[in-house]
Amino acid sequence: MTTIISALQAVKQRIAYAAMQAGREPQDIRLLAVSKTFSAEAVREAFQAGQAAFGESYVQEAVDKIATLADLPLEWHFIGPLQSNKTRLVAEHFNWVHSVDRAKIADRLSSARPVALPPLQVCLEVNVSGEASKGGISPRELEALATHVRALPRLQLRGLMAIPAATDDAALQRRQFREVRELFDGLNHKGFKLDTLSIGMSNDLESAIAEGATIVRIGTAIFGTRNMRR
Ligand SMILES: *Cc1c(COP(=O)(O)O)cnc(C)c1O
Repeated sequence: MTTIISALQAVKQRIAYAAMQAGREPQDIRLLAVSKTFSAEAVREAFQAGQAAFGESYVQEAVDKIATLADLPLEWHFIGPLQSNKTRLVAEHFNWVHSVDRAKIADRLSSARPVALPPLQVCLEVNVSGEASKGGISPRELEALATHVRALPRLQLRGLMAIPAATDDAALQRRQFREVRELFDGLNHKGFKLDTLSIGMSNDLESAIAEGATIVRIGTAIFGTRNMRR
């Protein structure tokens, strides 16, 4: 049986190898361990193996886990679909949100962010798969949203996140990630100071790193297969 510690080690090796292949420094790619559906004990085990940043997708599950683990210096990233009525909990309990895809959600996060905390670190989720069922702002509307979010006082706009259509075709993975990368470069060219490209999951982290990922979000390859939705 694979333990979390050996799985984490293997993922770090994949990241280091992909960075080397891409001529990049491994330390320029942050590993976000996606712990959704897994227990607080699994997170504790990963922390003991040196992992401090965790991603969650379901608000109530995450808030419970964060409370259970309040004794550890963890960094929490919200990466799931975000509904208006959950923005307060997210603004109060997380350090980062990767899935901001409309102005209304951004406004609510900014007003609910407690003044005692640093600004919420935000990525805009962009839909490059063209699948209407998926979240994310369309590339066409991205710049307007970025302009809006940049002006909000309690949010700090850090970059872009995307979840491309799942495929084992590496060329297709690369093409979809490249589109996100070009949007990222385009915004920076217009004066946005973005430093975060949150792309790449268990199946496609090599392609994402080749296209410039600075955060990879890895669940299955660390914690195993998720067999329940929450
Ligand atoms: C679940 C999830 C992940 C992790 O996916 P794996 O394939 O298990 O690595 C990454 N990003 C988001 C947004 C997710 O919801």
